[in-house]
Amino acid sequence: MFRNTNRRCYNGYHVPLETMRYASWPPTYVECDCGNLAKHIVHYRRLPCGTPHFAQTWIWECPICGQKYRLPKGSFEFESIK
Ligand SMILES: [Zn+2]
Repeated sequence: MFRNTNRRCYNGYHVPLETMRYASWPPTYVECDCGNLAKHIVHYRRLPCGTPHFAQTWIWECPICGQKYRLPKGSFEFESIK
């Protein structure tokens, strides 16, 4: 089932998520107010056992204007962070 969000969402290939199921949720990119794409910040680290671990921050940052957005847990409404 597809849920609407208050921003356009794209996967890592810049494909709008409207055409896809939620297999690629959370989106890699969301549309910024300035018209560019804010990218999801994911922290990468290696666990002591050597396994790569990706920690999702649920924060998206626009590389052009620096605006950040966050997605509260369980919500599909993006919030701007000042
Ligand atoms: Zn921006």
